[in-house]
Formats: sequence, C-alpha cells, structure tokens
Amino acid sequence: MGGTVLISGGGIAGLTLAIELHNNGFDPVVIEREPALRREGYMMDFFGSGWDVAERMGLLERLRAIRYPIDVLQFVDDHGAAWLDVPIGRLRHALRGKYIYLRRQDLERVLAERASELGIEIRYGTSLHSLAGQSNGVRATFVGGRSEDFDLVIGADGVHSRVRSLVFGPEKQFARFLGLYVAGLHVPQDGYPLGHACKLFEETDRAAFLYPLDDKTMDATYIFRHDQRNYAGARTLTFLRAQYRGGGWISENVLRQHQPGEPLYFDSATQIVMPEWHRGRVALIGDACGCLTLLAGQGSHMAMAGAYVLARELKRHSDHADAFRAYQAFLKPHVDKRQRDAARFSGYFVPSPGSIRWLRHLTMRLLFSAAGLRTLMGFVGSRSVLTGHY
Ligand SMILES: Cc1cc2nc3c(=O)[nH]c(=O)nc-3n(C[C@H](O)[C@H](O)[C@H](O)COP(=O)(O)OP(=O)(O)OC[C@H]3O[C@@H](n4cnc5c(N)ncnc54)[C@H](O)[C@@H]3O)c2cc1C
Repeated sequence: MGGTVLISGGGIAGLTLAIELHNNGFDPVVIEREPALRREGYMMDFFGSGWDVAERMGLLERLRAIRYPIDVLQFVDDHGAAWLDVPIGRLRHALRGKYIYLRRQDLERVLAERASELGIEIRYGTSLHSLAGQSNGVRATFVGGRSEDFDLVIGADGVHSRVRSLVFGPEKQFARFLGLYVAGLHVPQDGYPLGHACKLFEETDRAAFLYPLDDKTMDATYIFRHDQRNYAGARTLTFLRAQYRGGGWISENVLRQHQPGEPLYFDSATQIVMPEWHRGRVALIGDACGCLTLLAGQGSHMAMAGAYVLARELKRHSDHADAFRAYQAFLKPHVDKRQRDAARFSGYFVPSPGSIRWLRHLTMRLLFSAAGLRTLMGFVGSRSVLTGHY
C-alpha cells in the first residue's frame, strides 16, 4: 500500500519497523523521546525470532562482531564460590549455534546505524502530545504544539506507551504486575574481578547477575521481589540500595559503585496484556502491546518479529485494517503463550522464603545440564516464530 507512517519510539521494535517499512516502499518517520540513543540498558540473550529477523535484515554479522568476555555462567554462593558452572558453549549448542549476548543499547545502535544508512528520519527529543483521526489519516500533534498528518501511526514506545494511553486508555487496565522489580546498571569492576564469567548470585527474594564487559567494567542486573505495584519514587537508587541492604557476596557493595546521575534502568516486571493491538489507523508493536518482561528472555525477539510481520502485512494488503488484523492474528498467540509461561514462572525466578536451597540447586543443575537445556529451550519457545510463515 505505501504511505507515511509515524512510529513513536526509537527502540528495538520502532527501529526494526522503520527499516522494514522503508524496504517495503513506505515512508516512515521515527520520533524518540530521548535526546539521543539511550545509554541505560542491560545484557540480553539474543536467539530465536530475533536472530531470524536480524539475519533477514542482513544485520547478523554486525551483531556477531559485538563480543563480551563471557565463557561461562557461574552460579555463586555467599562467598562467591561457584556451585554450578554452565559453559556458554552448552547454551549455544542447545540453540544450534544461534545465540549471542548483547546489551540492549548494542542492538539499538546497530539498528539506528542501519536506519541512518537508509536515510530514515529519526527525530530525537520529540514525543506525542495528542492524536486525532482524520477522514483518511491521523493528525499527530507533538509536545511543543506542531502538528503533522500521517497515513498510519504505530506505537513502539515500550511498556509505558504514550500511543497506547492516547488511543486505548490508561495503562492500569492492561498491566499484569509479576511481583518483581528490575534494575540495570553499568559499574566499575573495582576489586571484584569477574574473570570471563557471568556470575549469578541469589538469596531469598533477591538476585544479582554480573556480566563482565571488559577487564574494568561490568553490567549488573538486579531483580528483587516487592509487592508494591507502582513504585515510582524519585529516589530510585536509594530504594534499590535499601532492597539489597545486608545482601550477600558483593551484591550490596556493587550498588555503592553506582554514582547518582549515571544511567540506571529501573522498572517493575509488568506485562502488558491487551485484547486488541490496533484501533483505526493506529497499531502497537513490541512491549507497548505485548511486554513479556525479562522473565521470558525473548522480549526483543518478539518486538523484532512483530515489526517484521507488520511491515510484511502492510505491504501485502491494500487496506491497513486487514494488515493490522493479519499481524495480530499471527503474532498474538505466540506472545500470549510466552506471557502465560513467564507469569507462571515468576514465583520461581528468585528464591522465595519457602525455597529449599538444596532442592533449588538440584533443579538448576538439571535445568542447565545439556539435556535439561534442550528441553528448557523447547519449552520457552526458542525457535523462531517466523519459520515457515514469513
Ligand atoms: C533487565 C531486562 C533484561 C532483558 N533481557 C532480555 C533478553 O535476554 N532477551 C530479550 O529478547 N529481551 C530481553 N528483555 C526485554 C527487551 O529488552 C524488551 O522486550 C525490548 O526492549 C522491547 O523493545 P521495544 O522497542 O518494544 O520497547 P523499548 O525497548 O522499551 O523501546 C521503546 C522506545 O520508545 C521510547 N519512548 C518511550 N516513550 C516515548 C514517547 N512518549 N515518545 C517517544 N518515544 C518514547 C523509549 O525511549 C524507547 O527508546 C529484557 C528486559 C529487561 C528489563
């Protein structure tokens, strides 16, 4: 069909969609609230549908060139001693070689570079004030007052989507809180050399995953249980440090390394569950309509798959409504399944007060054995959803 498409959100979903729409004859414009590519983020596992889309986009070599010195996943105790080693090669083998570690900002940078090579317009530091339906388009008014008309508008603006709240209503009706909070930070390794291991430390109601980026710095992901649904305090770092007060191994100390003002990702683990992903000339993709949370380990994959499928359906159909319906009919069952699985698993992600340590360790050893991993990967739906369809 072709035409102008406003994409709100220059993250993984928005940039993938912009590239795919451009390649299929559309004229996309991306608006991104942040003034530049985001600096805050976290380490991600990249495989499955995300891998497949990246390969079809011709981006795999650029992604494979990004390397971090991680040879092994190491579960450690209160003293930092390993109680389980899982070589990365075992994970890679379970995923038939199609597996890499990436930081979210790496993936966004590679996508943004590709978009810029193609001449796609990305307007940083801009966001939507309102949307109004016209007879054959949508009028977008940006913060600051300027208006512009587009044929279609796509919300790729993440779990707290602005487009979703403008068109579908407040977030709370779609939010499924999983009882956990997540933080991602980047700190010096000062005094805590990790070697070539991603170290995973857990104790009751909280966990810390530390990833070496080089000899001097690391990414840390902190995950803790908390029953307050909407913590939105201004003093996030203070709140985070309070959750790890008295934390074992180096979990408390690493948080002291983080300086106020440095990039810090912080949010609840909240899924977005919606009956419909489109209305009129507006549709949602990625976390905006189907956030899985980190528990699924596949949010970026499904964000890329959603963008890829939507672009193809828009090209295939002369009517945008048919394209939106086909996109949702194909992808939503895959997202629903992953959301259900992740929600079921959320109670076990970090040890609960009732956890029996030796039983948990035994379960982990079985899950991360070569046979266990093959079964686990089959269960979590690690195969690309695009196989055989697109
Ligand atoms: C700690 C953690 C670990 C994870 N690990 C993995 C993993 O291992 N594997 C995996 O596949 N997934 C993982 N995920 C999930 C994955 O990061 C997300 O599913 C993915 O980033 C979703 O992409 P998105 O583009 O839909 O949303 P986002 O990445 O949230 O991007 C949305 C973009 O929209 C912008 N935006 C927001 N509001 C506005 C506005 N009003 N106007 C304009 N722009 C706006 C934002 O600044 C952002 O750039 C993890 C998530 C977390 C939190």
